[in-house]
Amino acid sequence: MEIIRDVPEMQRRVTALREQGKVIGFVPTMGFLHDGHLSLFRAARLENQILAISIFVNPTQFDRPEDLETYPVDLEGDLAKAREEGVDLVFIPAREDMYPHGYSTFVEVEGLTRRWEGTYRPGHFRGVATVVAKLFQVVKPHRTYFGQKDYQQARIVQHMVRDLDMNIEVVVLPTVREPDGLAMSSRNANLTADERRQAPMLHRALCWAGDRVKSGERDAQVLVEGMERMIQEGTSAAVDYVGLCHPESLEPLEKVEGPAVALLAVRFSKARLIDNVMINVP
Ligand code: AMP
Repeated sequence: MEIIRDVPEMQRRVTALREQGKVIGFVPTMGFLHDGHLSLFRAARLENQILAISIFVNPTQFDRPEDLETYPVDLEGDLAKAREEGVDLVFIPAREDMYPHGYSTFVEVEGLTRRWEGTYRPGHFRGVATVVAKLFQVVKPHRTYFGQKDYQQARIVQHMVRDLDMNIEVVVLPTVREPDGLAMSSRNANLTADERRQAPMLHRALCWAGDRVKSGERDAQVLVEGMERMIQEGTSAAVDYVGLCHPESLEPLEKVEGPAVALLAVRFSKARLIDNVMINVP
């Protein structure tokens, strides 16, 4: 496994591999790796000759400085996991190399970024789209892998790749969960023991909505209010949003009459968590 920190060196390395005809799969991460990340590595490992990952806690996507400061880090642990999964290239750029003095170019995906996370984390998706576009420029992958856990992010990356003719296949893979249903997230490390016990309620609420749709409920307001009530009664978290949206447009639904996504974001004392599930009308 090669660990590369230098941007031009990474570019030279992947260009040489592409010239040899190697197919490159790429998983961008912010580190503190867990089984959710590893599921992406495994899929990419199977489908590509070269598996490249990046570990970069991207400052431009953090809307609150305290979130950036408390973001967990474990580089040694991450490298051990990457090695075990057969990663070929680990790209670990320095902040000042990704955003040198005077950096001033940003990618804005309109529309899809407006709602949900976009409302509660101003500038977040501008930072995500920008860093992902930059990482694609450096790593030059044929395929890239994202988790459904960050549903809106995955849709935005797909949209950016299409709009900017990036010629990269974006693969979106299911959310990996703890045995009690909590979506794996690096941020779970910042939950207190009490909050960790409450946190599975998020997934339970999303699944409850799916079950209600299966039993015939179509009114989004009824479903949203039910999910909110479960979270308010079962956790100490503050709700940023709970909603049902169209899987493509991400626009909120009034009636659930076709495929939908139930999604939410809540704030515990030191961790903001998001989750979602796909809902299908029988
Ligand atoms: P992050 O390190 O949080 O930026 O995540 C890197 C990638 O891993 C993103 O594409 C995430 O959507 C994905 N990911 C994070 N958590 C999970 C999970 N529990 N299951 C599947 N993918 C995940």
